[in-house]
Amino acid sequence: TSGRVVIIGGGFGGATCAKYLQRFDPDLDITLVEPKQNFVTCPFSNLVLGGLREMDSISHSYEAHSKRGIKVLHTSAREIDPTGKKVQLADGTTLEYDRLVVSPGIDFRWEDIENMSPGDAEKLPHAWNGGPQTVTLRRQLTAMPDGGTVIIAPPANPFRCPPGPYERASMIASYLKQNKPKSKVLILDAKTKFSKQPLFMQGWEALYGDMIEWVSGDAGGRITGVDIAGRALYNELGEEHAGSVVNLIPPQKAGKIAHAADLVDDTGWCPVNQRTFESSRHPDIHVIGDASLAGAMPKSGFAANNHGKVCAAAIVSALHNTTMPEPSYVNTCYSLVGPDYGISVAAVYRYSDEEGIYAVKEAGGVSPGDVGPDFREQEARYTRGWYASITSDTWG
Ligand code: FAD
Repeated sequence: TSGRVVIIGGGFGGATCAKYLQRFDPDLDITLVEPKQNFVTCPFSNLVLGGLREMDSISHSYEAHSKRGIKVLHTSAREIDPTGKKVQLADGTTLEYDRLVVSPGIDFRWEDIENMSPGDAEKLPHAWNGGPQTVTLRRQLTAMPDGGTVIIAPPANPFRCPPGPYERASMIASYLKQNKPKSKVLILDAKTKFSKQPLFMQGWEALYGDMIEWVSGDAGGRITGVDIAGRALYNELGEEHAGSVVNLIPPQKAGKIAHAADLVDDTGWCPVNQRTFESSRHPDIHVIGDASLAGAMPKSGFAANNHGKVCAAAIVSALHNTTMPEPSYVNTCYSLVGPDYGISVAAVYRYSDEEGIYAVKEAGGVSPGDVGPDFREQEARYTRGWYASITSDTWG
């Protein structure tokens, strides 16, 4: 073989990187470590909440990876030895690597919210990782009374998927409008502005009237604690908001293994060389996806997929002692405001030694504000097309 590469995490970053490593160099010995048999995406999990999709349609297996000759181990990585270049797995095996890729996604800063702990998920699901909590939150929505309030509390920046909480509010409102029209969605935000805000607000007014209310972080939106039993959130002024359904999205940091392996800095995220995604802290280990500090790029599945490809090129170049091609990066975040109402933000990025990954001026932007329903419907179609193509690029 031309080298041994181990990848921790089979999400958007890791699964893409494994596939493209194999494509760039079929002689590599590639092992993907991922505990889940089926990966449930966060993208389109808001559509499940809105009743537009079933869980099956957002679940993806690793069959295509196995068929290509990538070893897929369904267990988790417990420890990394950066000097001995070994990974210890939960099932007791040890893997040796020439290069290691770490794409573990996010973990939560529970300590930032008073009285909140991971065990409270059944009562207050964050549903910020695709999977069982998406189902719990959906069940709570279908069980709530007409006339109830759904509270969504998004965290401060940086966090996974900047437009995600607002797409979630939209999809929940879409469900409520049809099934429980006397209900409300209250967004208590830690921030004072959010991604695609004017477009979201325009869409909310057009589709849902005043069903969705957004409270800014400087007007009492910033949540500091919870009352689990009372299904309530409180802010720094001690004001309490109780809801029929409460979706508190906690502040975030890089996934656990990144902390255990000393790959994070004091931001809680992983600093990397943004051209190769090699860790700034340990050589021959690359960190990609949400866990990495990737300059101007947002924490998105699209971005993680992109990192996976750039990182694969960097690793193959390094193992073969060849010059790596100059990377170009791209991201588009589509959001559905209604079933036939899509909006998007897109950007192209390049790398420089001074700035790291920066957005190329005038090479992106958001959907126009002054267009009719046909345009929004077309973007809703693009949204569905995007999901089909990115998931087939990542797991297909
Ligand atoms: P993940 O995809 O989370 O993958 C991490 C994987 O690592 C997991 O499978 C986990 O099991 C595994 N893992 C963790 N620790 C270990 C370990 N120790 N050993 C082995 N495996 C481990 N992005 C978009 O581009 N478009 C969207 O429309 C969009 N919508 C979203 C909607 C919502 C509601 C949310 C929450 C997010 C959305 N995102 C979207 C963001 C997207 O989900 C993330 O940015 C993306 O999943 C990041 O990829 P990743 O590889 O970093 O992490």
